Amino acid sequence: MRESELDVADVQQRAGTGALPPGDRIDDLVREAYGRARTHAEGEVADYIPILAEADPASFGVCVAGVDGELHEIGDTRIRFSIQSISKAFVYALVCDALGHEKAFDVIGVNNTGLAFNSVVAIELNDGHPMNPMVNAGALAATAMVPGDTAAEKWDAVVSGLSRFAGRELVVDETVYRSEVETNLRNRAIAQLLESYGRITVDPLEVVDVYTRQCALLVDARDLAVMGATLADGGVNPLTGERVVSASVCRDLLAVLAATGLYERSGEWLFEIGLPGKSGVAGGLVTVAPGKVGIGTYSPPLDSAGNSVRGQIATAYLSRGLGLNIFASDSHFSGRTPR
Ligand code: GLU
Repeated sequence: MRESELDVADVQQRAGTGALPPGDRIDDLVREAYGRARTHAEGEVADYIPILAEADPASFGVCVAGVDGELHEIGDTRIRFSIQSISKAFVYALVCDALGHEKAFDVIGVNNTGLAFNSVVAIELNDGHPMNPMVNAGALAATAMVPGDTAAEKWDAVVSGLSRFAGRELVVDETVYRSEVETNLRNRAIAQLLESYGRITVDPLEVVDVYTRQCALLVDARDLAVMGATLADGGVNPLTGERVVSASVCRDLLAVLAATGLYERSGEWLFEIGLPGKSGVAGGLVTVAPGKVGIGTYSPPLDSAGNSVRGQIATAYLSRGLGLNIFASDSHFSGRTPR
């Protein structure tokens, strides 16, 4: 989305190189971000997985979780929804943590496809290479690489790993899972195509099943903020104190998210908001300001690329007001004698 669509043209940009404002100021900014984004009714609720169409388009929650464990939240931050594509980021982190950066880089890649998240053409154009872990091909390849000899063991590793990121036991929404199982023919085709290229070396339909379950895990905006804060905090969950992944895995994942986290709009997002993030088609959005905060938002209406409209507007406001944009700096020169 453009600055004008994000409704932040009049918001002063604070430098990302500064410190966070005090907690009560963060509360004010969260309230302002929510109030501004709530007036926007643009976007469509996803319906290609039938059950998702039943989401209430008015639901909206915003939560900021600091690396100090402080939460700042407003609105529907405890409404649960399926994590969907946002799971891709955290499963990739688990795979990198288990197998190492190089292996994941070789098999999955880190470059943008420029095509839709579920594109088959992108696989064909790249000789069977998935290109990055945030499109379905790369995510399926990542799920196939999760440690475990059987699909059940892989699933256990996924659900326990994502639960450690959230700091609580996550559970699957069986209705969402079944709704997607009935309609995920395309993901099955992608997994089998990857098998034909030797990119998936275990049963591809079992991989799709684990992937479909991981997408149906229930989270709320607060969970997303905590999961994001864990990535902002070098891999340690700021609520539980548990190390979930290494600091270098966080660094690598955040680079991938900066390049590919918002579908085909990833470049626009980085240009306007200046932070790594990942969205999902149920309306969730997680954004990470390294060393500072995780931001979780929930609002089901999506733009044409599949990103939550209100989530983007609220996050843009917070990026500017809290001084999170990693590319925004103030001059160090002021007050210094010229050399
Ligand atoms: N489970 C969804 C799919 O694979 C995730 C899509 C998304 O959130 O982008 O189609």
